[in-house]
Amino acid sequence: MTDPRLEALHQSLPALRLSREPGDLEHYGRDWTRRWAPAPLAVAWPASIEEVQGVVRWANAQGAALVPSGGRTGLSGGAVAAGGELVLSLERMNRVLGFDAVDRTLTVQPGIALQAVQEAAQAHGLQYPVDFGARGSCSIGGNIATNAGGIRVIRYGNTREWIAGLKLVTGAGELLDLNRALVKNSSGYDLRHLAIGAEGTLGVVVEATLKLTDPAPPAQTLLLALPSFEVLMRVFAEFRARLRLQAFEFLTDRGLAHVVAHGGTDPFDARHPYYVVAEYDAADAAQEAAGLAAFEACAEAGWIVDGAIAQSQAQAQQLWRLREGITEAVARYRPYKNDVSVRVAAMPAFLAEAQALLGEAYPRFEVVWFGHIGDGNLHINVLQPDDVADADFMRQCAHVTELLAGLLKRHGGSISAEHGIGLVKKPYLDSTRSPQEIALMRGLRRVFDPNGVLNPGKLFD
Ligand SMILES: Cc1cc2nc3c(=O)[nH]c(=O)nc-3n(C[C@H](O)[C@H](O)[C@H](O)COP(=O)(O)OP(=O)(O)OC[C@H]3O[C@@H](n4cnc5c(N)ncnc54)[C@H](O)[C@@H]3O)c2cc1C
Repeated sequence: MTDPRLEALHQSLPALRLSREPGDLEHYGRDWTRRWAPAPLAVAWPASIEEVQGVVRWANAQGAALVPSGGRTGLSGGAVAAGGELVLSLERMNRVLGFDAVDRTLTVQPGIALQAVQEAAQAHGLQYPVDFGARGSCSIGGNIATNAGGIRVIRYGNTREWIAGLKLVTGAGELLDLNRALVKNSSGYDLRHLAIGAEGTLGVVVEATLKLTDPAPPAQTLLLALPSFEVLMRVFAEFRARLRLQAFEFLTDRGLAHVVAHGGTDPFDARHPYYVVAEYDAADAAQEAAGLAAFEACAEAGWIVDGAIAQSQAQAQQLWRLREGITEAVARYRPYKNDVSVRVAAMPAFLAEAQALLGEAYPRFEVVWFGHIGDGNLHINVLQPDDVADADFMRQCAHVTELLAGLLKRHGGSISAEHGIGLVKKPYLDSTRSPQEIALMRGLRRVFDPNGVLNPGKLFD
């Protein structure tokens, strides 16, 4: 440790695991965006709340910046450390601390993977229903900091709905025990909800008490082939009116082709322009029949041109892979990602305009659309061609995002549905939040983190 600030850190917390190994700096300095060259000062792996507090106090004393870091699966650059920050990896704090059968809660450390939480809930005959493709590598702390959504939001809501209590180390190093898993607590501001979705700018999540629920009923999984974009929301409306949906996800032929090139299986003989993966309750014959009736009604209307129904759990997983495998399948093109949302009812009008805008704006780039369409959330992935330089690509994407932000503003939407603002969407925050809101957000940040040591430069400057 040649840096005097790190010497001071080592002196005050001798047991803290620290590294300046180039491999660690490279690995822990980036997230899934892979657009910023990692350049952290060092990486620290605290093993306790006290060590987290010690690091935060050290950062205040030394004027150092910290980047809270979970699984670094984030898609907005929130966990990037490219400017001499200390990466505060919560990876070692990854245990289940307790289960309460009466409260139906699970208390966990922040570095635990989402999948490990799901499995712990299952072991108690219950369910933690937030779910998405990065489940094996993202952390609960990161999920809370981004208010992660995923494929079950249509039924269960975002991460926010499932947080019964939080322990937070503020930017000043104070430990807050927020809501303590109370179901009812009408005692003023609910600071827990400020921390959720704050992208690590107000405090470090050091413990969470998660709500659990009954396991989902048996479900039927379908892959639907659609002839045009225009019918998408009609199919959704029909399915939603007739069935209890567990998921309703959309992808295009391009997304499907990339997954198939990565080993996915296309169940259809012909290619179709648009697809939906739908899952609905099918606990008895009546619910199964309702599913079939919804399918037939849409087919008769000409809104569905083919369908595949999973006959087993393995087949359901194959169908899901076509949707969930897209992010990984296109990762090599380092896509520029838009993650936008509008109200579900505003979706048809927004989709029509967005499709026209993007078709015109990106004539040279491949654009892969997919998303949680049942939540009004669309992912637009612009793939970088091998022969287009980074700067040129980013300039064009920034220009189009500016236009898209204007469109979203007109439709009352959001520039970030579930990935967070981070570095990627920072220039467009004002398309979604009013000047008054942003001023209040800045003020809150100063209250929680007076010296601005937590994730400086993320969300806003
Ligand atoms: C294949 C794939 C599929 C995905 N699908 C979805 C999806 O469907 N829905 C969705 O919402 N997201 C999705 N994501 C994005 C990503 O997985 C989520 O944003 C996830 O919540 C990030 O968790 P993480 O632990 O990796 O966080 P990181 O990337 O490590 O960090 C994300 C942000 O949280 C902050 N942070 C991390 N830990 C803490 C903590 N303990 N306290 C305070 N702040 C902290 C970081 O500073 C950063 O700002 C997907 C990503 C991939 C790669």
